[in-house]
Amino acid sequence: MPHRHGFGTRAVHAGQHPDPTTGAVMPPIYMTSTFAQESPGVSKGPPDMPYDYSRAANPTRTVLEANLASLEHSTHAIAFSSGCAALAALLHTLQSGDHVVLGDDVYGGTFRVFERVFKQFGIGYTQADVTDVSAVERAMTPATKLVWLETPTNPLLKIADIAAIAKLTRSRGARLAVDNTFATPYLQAPLALGADVVCHSATKYLGGHSDIIGGALITSDDALAKDLHFYQKAVGAVPSPFDCFLLLRSTKTLHLRMARHCESAMHIARHLEKHTSVEHVIYPGLASHPQHDLAKRQMCGGYGGMISLVVKGGLGPAKRVLERVEIFTLAESLGGVESLIEHPGIMTHASIPADLRAARGIHDGLIRLSIGVEDPADLIADLDQALAG
Ligand code: PLP
Repeated sequence: MPHRHGFGTRAVHAGQHPDPTTGAVMPPIYMTSTFAQESPGVSKGPPDMPYDYSRAANPTRTVLEANLASLEHSTHAIAFSSGCAALAALLHTLQSGDHVVLGDDVYGGTFRVFERVFKQFGIGYTQADVTDVSAVERAMTPATKLVWLETPTNPLLKIADIAAIAKLTRSRGARLAVDNTFATPYLQAPLALGADVVCHSATKYLGGHSDIIGGALITSDDALAKDLHFYQKAVGAVPSPFDCFLLLRSTKTLHLRMARHCESAMHIARHLEKHTSVEHVIYPGLASHPQHDLAKRQMCGGYGGMISLVVKGGLGPAKRVLERVEIFTLAESLGGVESLIEHPGIMTHASIPADLRAARGIHDGLIRLSIGVEDPADLIADLDQALAG
């Protein structure tokens, strides 16, 4: 599917053709661990990735990877069994003594992989405020091989200037990895802005229905893609053919869901900004957001479905809101068709030490909302009744 086609067309068709043997319109779920060989070492499938064993390659996964690559305007996607597995595969390309600059507001599990897994193998890291390019530059050392950032960040929804940081990393011989989970390729194209690799927790908007765990790395760098395919096969955190099928089913409607997430989130953020029980609303689409102008330039078609807010009165009132909601579900994760609410300090970001969380602005009154595709009026009424309590 050529990149010149629109996003919706690529979402529905890229990587997919009617099955040549049966004419099935949807890609079959190849539930097989192994494949018959015509002669020892002679297998069917793409010459560079023959189908000999499903950890190495599986036809349903091949279709998914082609679809994801197309959505990110790229040539290679490598699918994993989770977003954390995707991150780990990228870190496997580093060596002991290498250094990473990590955004200072990232998913708690991302922080945990750096701090509790790869640090013990000699891969050091320094956290930096990615809204400030000079802070990223100051954090870099001669050993820095990678800058890893989220934009919008999780949970404070800060926006990093991808093009400016890509220029910096290129000049210093390092790679830039952007976790595009919150924005999705529908809103933001990090590779076109100069990033080297994009990471997704496909569990979120790409999956969109809170029914799978998945991840992906996407790049147009042939050498990096080769290494990542090697770690995918060698370490083996691959998604099942069934999960690949579910993800493909979901990416077909990504553009429709994202448009609705963005529209509803904007509406709800504006409402919350006026609410007397709310101290502060963080949403990149609001003029009050410190990087609103950058978000307007860098994201196209909307500002995403995530809203963070600080409830007046701190932990007690925040907890009561979380307990009182009826349509929102109190749960970790995000990006599904149903609206979720959570407390980052106690839930998704609990793996970050309390003093670090407080220093970064993840306060006790902070609540994170993932706005689903329900009727926005019902979501507003639900938040109002919970906040009134
Ligand atoms: N990146 C972001 C921005 C996330 O929010 C998450 C999980 O919440 C991850 C990565 C990790 O993904 P997974 O839970 O699929 O391993």
